[in-house]
Amino acid sequence: MCRYYEVCVIGSGMGGSMFASLNKDKDIVVFEKDSNLGGCASTFKRYGSYFNSGATTFVGYETGHPVKEIFDNIDYKPDIKKSNIAFRVLQNEKTIDRVKDFEEFLDQINKAFPNKNNRVFWAKIKELDEKFWQIHDIYYGKYSLKSYILSANTLIKLFKSFNIEVFKSANSFIKETLGDISLEYQHFIDAQLLITLQTTSKDISLLSLALGLSYPFHDVFYVNGGMGSLFDGLLENIETKKKEEIMKIVLEKDYFRLISNKDEYLSKNVVLNSTIYDSGKLFEDERIKKYYESFDFNDQSAFVVNLVLEKNYDLLHHYLIILDEQIPNCISNSFFISISSKDDEKMSNRGYSITISSHTKASFWKKLNKEEYELKKEQTQEFIIDKLLQKLNTIKKEDIIKKFSASSLTFNRYINRYNCGGRAITMKNVFSTPSAKTPFKGLYNIGDSVFAGQGWPGVAIGVKALNKEFNG
Ligand SMILES: Cc1cc2nc3c(=O)[nH]c(=O)nc-3n(C[C@H](O)[C@H](O)[C@H](O)COP(=O)(O)OP(=O)(O)OC[C@H]3O[C@@H](n4cnc5c(N)ncnc54)[C@H](O)[C@@H]3O)c2cc1C
Repeated sequence: MCRYYEVCVIGSGMGGSMFASLNKDKDIVVFEKDSNLGGCASTFKRYGSYFNSGATTFVGYETGHPVKEIFDNIDYKPDIKKSNIAFRVLQNEKTIDRVKDFEEFLDQINKAFPNKNNRVFWAKIKELDEKFWQIHDIYYGKYSLKSYILSANTLIKLFKSFNIEVFKSANSFIKETLGDISLEYQHFIDAQLLITLQTTSKDISLLSLALGLSYPFHDVFYVNGGMGSLFDGLLENIETKKKEEIMKIVLEKDYFRLISNKDEYLSKNVVLNSTIYDSGKLFEDERIKKYYESFDFNDQSAFVVNLVLEKNYDLLHHYLIILDEQIPNCISNSFFISISSKDDEKMSNRGYSITISSHTKASFWKKLNKEEYELKKEQTQEFIIDKLLQKLNTIKKEDIIKKFSASSLTFNRYINRYNCGGRAITMKNVFSTPSAKTPFKGLYNIGDSVFAGQGWPGVAIGVKALNKEFNG
């Protein structure tokens, strides 16, 4: 006889784990293909050291924000510490610290990119972001009258707070406030937007621009023991089946039948934390397959370099390096560096654990043969390390004890996704964004490929919307 669960969550990423944590009173199970919890935000062990696989910055853990609300709801206090400088930008000869204090930040911007309207621009960015986080119960859903009414309510709330500014384009705001800015200033803005929104200022709204540029105005945290340790806390006391991949889901009369690499299960409710692009493969039912196939693949992905570095240096938690040239085999001229705390006994056990990430196209790596793949991976990795050594020039090359890297193929091997990074909500696609609710009873999506997007804050908004859907 198959084991029956009230809810089966497939995937222990931010979405699956936060949703499961809010529903721990139910007969619920989480399946995770990998041996580590957390998907793009997991922490893994290699060569005796620990590494963050993608996410390194914990944001949104502040009163009134969905992430903290979810953590508080389950009474989980994460082991975190504030990063006083969210990240240091190194761009040509310039050094700009993204600090929370507005005046201190403005001072630096005025030195780096003098413009008489810098204050107006950045104050507006901060003000819009603050207004956004004051709006509670943001909901987006489709496929039922109730969902459309609730979504319309959210739109009305947004209009009330922002008026027409919701639709104003980012670039027109930049132009009318700052005028024709230098390419360097534009790169400074775009490099940050690529991290937070997976896109540049060219096709987003002013509100997205504000949200994308504002996270350093909030408290930014370092997670002791690696980002992955948050998932142990979220999933404590929840049945979690690691290294168990759901291979197939069959829609039967009253249930979904889940077939894994180990067993079979029945459930009335399935929450898919696999991406919207990958979930269709699990089904044979033509209607469900068609539904998932209706979403265009988001080709954005990540290239990640992991290093172990001797602890001979005093370093910040995060740096953003912006270059004048493109990184080979990537779609960006910038990369983000995260460094473990010296006193983090787990992450810095054998030296600093470093995660460096940039943006690339998933399809680029897929089409290469094995030899080309290894060559290009090496080329990108070495280019990034060279630039890192040039920009943080006190670091000696011989102090890098270990180095390896990951492309979209690596992410797919471990966590079933070629695409990495959320689906940027742009002005063109805002109404075709997938929602947690599907047209099929008992079938739900969660994670960064559905509303409201990527990272702890974006995924948490989606989790709250799904929870409303689920529990009324
Ligand atoms: C390089 C990089 C850096 C980032 N940096 C940050 C950052 O600093 N801060 C931040 O907030 N965000 C960051 N992000 C974004 C953030 O990591 C993601 O948006 C978020 O982790 C995605 O969560 P998710 O819920 O979509 O789940 P995912 O991370 O996609 O996890 C899904 C899980 O489901 C599992 N799964 C899939 N299919 C199956 C199956 N059939 N059976 C069983 N299990 C399955 C996978 O193994 C995986 O563990 C970064 C992302 C990347 C790629």
